[in-house]
Amino acid sequence: MKLNENYFKLKDSYLFHTIALKVEKRRKERPGEKIISLGIGDTTRPLCVAAADALRAAADEMSVKETYKGYGPYEGYDFLRESVADYYETFGANVDSGDVFISSGAKDDISNILDVFGADNVVAAPNPVYPVYVDTNVMLGRETTYIEGNEANGFTPTPSARLDADIIYICSPNNPTGAVYTKDKLKRWVDYANERGAVILFDAAYEAFIRDRSLPRSVYEIDGAERCAVELCSLSKTAGFTGVRCGWTVVPKTLERGGVKLKDLWLRRQSTKFNGVSYVIQRAAAAVLAEEGLRQTRADIDEYMKNGEIIAKVLREKGVKFFGGENSPYIWLKCGASSWDFFDMLLDKAGIVGTPGAGFGSAGEGYFRLTVFGSGEDALEAAERLKKVDFQ
Ligand code: PLP
Repeated sequence: MKLNENYFKLKDSYLFHTIALKVEKRRKERPGEKIISLGIGDTTRPLCVAAADALRAAADEMSVKETYKGYGPYEGYDFLRESVADYYETFGANVDSGDVFISSGAKDDISNILDVFGADNVVAAPNPVYPVYVDTNVMLGRETTYIEGNEANGFTPTPSARLDADIIYICSPNNPTGAVYTKDKLKRWVDYANERGAVILFDAAYEAFIRDRSLPRSVYEIDGAERCAVELCSLSKTAGFTGVRCGWTVVPKTLERGGVKLKDLWLRRQSTKFNGVSYVIQRAAAAVLAEEGLRQTRADIDEYMKNGEIIAKVLREKGVKFFGGENSPYIWLKCGASSWDFFDMLLDKAGIVGTPGAGFGSAGEGYFRLTVFGSGEDALEAAERLKKVDFQ
């Protein structure tokens, strides 16, 4: 018996573990002190009323013989697939409900979708990066080429003449940098993929945070994307579904490689390895995407974004350079040489926890990630503490 030795090639992710140890040490040293976390990548606001009501109503349906449901369709229930397609229409993206596959969240399918691609493909991922793109490929024995995001390209890199990639990850709004692709820049990737026969895996997990209407919330707002892009989306951050688990993956019927529809392979994969998302959860997801649910979840996102505005205002006043924060839940600030030194300084001087950019890849060094997912009171208190920090 042999183990999958690719797992031995994975870099250990000490990031959040190391942060937790440092915070624990600080708590012991200064008991009673309130440590404020601006490092949370998880939601903290409860489910909106529409979603909670739908969960309860669906649970009631399941407890009655006449309305009980067993296995659902592999692709998800039509009522939710149609709600997803209607949702896309609200911001001008054309998605056929028949191309929508309901998932348990974006992370699952970021990994699952790799099943339909051959082992020899060259994979390109951004750097700084959401580590899941890289690690899922390492597990399959694939190495990743990096596309560097930096200040010069506004952390939204475009394909270089040298890039030779078959599978390309794009995350917009980006975790960790908060940067969002413009339509023009995204079009360059779509053209690149169509010219080369590559496939884009577009991670839109944070699309609901985009306020600037000129910025694309979906890759399908770009002409030609229906022939080269798979989109992965999620209600995790949009509607506080991180613990509920529901998202979707769009695999357009027009996306073909080697005369084969990717969608056919994906359906084959799903029907073999996946038995669908729970009916109760899908009802809650449909409630989020209905008019009242969208209104309620937008109000929650507005509250989160107010936290971002509070923090951004202090950074601006202090002359700290930062990116993101306006159309994403992440603020990516320039902290100087060592992001771990900055972490230690911020914890020491202000009792504030964030995430060192080095944890997101080599191009993250020198930067620091703050998130908006805490409470309003914490954001206000953090702002007061930040005012007293010497950022030099
Ligand atoms: N994609 C990005 C860029 C993320 O940051 C996250 C979670 O933090 C995910 C996907 C995972 O989302 P989900 O909860 O839908 O699995």
